[in-house]
Amino acid sequence: MPEGAQITFRLWLPFYDEGARRNLGNAAVPGDSKGMDGANQFGQTILEARGLKKTYGAREKNLEVLTDANLQLREGEMVAVVAPSGAGKSTLLHLLAALDTPTSGNVYFENKSIESNQDAALAHFRNRAVGFLWQRHQLLPDFSAAENVAMPLLARGESHANALSEAHKWLKEVGLEDRLEHRAGELSGGEQQRVAIARALITAPRVLLADEPTGDLDEQNAWAVFELLQRLHRNHRLTSLIATHNVALAQRCDRIVGLEHGVLQSRSTHTVAGLTPGGETS
Ligand code: ADP
Repeated sequence: MPEGAQITFRLWLPFYDEGARRNLGNAAVPGDSKGMDGANQFGQTILEARGLKKTYGAREKNLEVLTDANLQLREGEMVAVVAPSGAGKSTLLHLLAALDTPTSGNVYFENKSIESNQDAALAHFRNRAVGFLWQRHQLLPDFSAAENVAMPLLARGESHANALSEAHKWLKEVGLEDRLEHRAGELSGGEQQRVAIARALITAPRVLLADEPTGDLDEQNAWAVFELLQRLHRNHRLTSLIATHNVALAQRCDRIVGLEHGVLQSRSTHTVAGLTPGGETS
């Protein structure tokens, strides 16, 4: 491993240790999830936002991005959050992944507030319950594809051999078995996003949060990556939340929620405010 890459690896690790910084307890809340029934093909609520508010900045110049965001994700659903750039999609996903803290409101995983988790439980939530996919993949360019994918397992203390063997399996699953040793920086945009998908899923999370996963790709690659996400969602029984401004992709999800003035609302596939089917803001 090149020296520069080792330094980058050390810089990257704290992301996985971030959970250790926060304090938690496991406060159960009254569950309002419904069980499986004939009318609904999905399971119980697995991840939920209740009354999320997020304000950035100081008092006089504050920017209220989320005012009262409520969302229930049920097991097995693939949900799209569709809104124009700047509406607060990333903010919402970061709060749901416990990468940031809300100004008020709470996120619940399996009916337990993640705010009240102990450090170890929060680290567990981040590393195993939720996989996060960024628009700009955040790969380490000097590392091989396999090393990038293996990192979440290395960060949680698994052996190098096991982590790399798992990474090879995942790279095969995303169609990159012939790119295992390529440096991430030498891969195409679509290939890099496939590596990022493998890295997000190698910890076998229950929920996948994807922030504009096709935003940087051309149309053909965007569809290929979205279809891969759909296949993995089904095969691994994931619950997925995909932030996008691409209505055509969103229409392939189980349901769509819009984000307007800091509030989430159910949308029919034909009335997504401010957007055109091609995915551009109008
Ligand atoms: P989207 O993902 O829909 O493009 P974001 O959640 O990234 O929207 O951002 C929503 C708004 O919040 C934007 O106006 C952005 O400039 C602002 N914002 C995001 N993060 C911060 C931050 N850390 N500090 C201040 N403002 C921020």
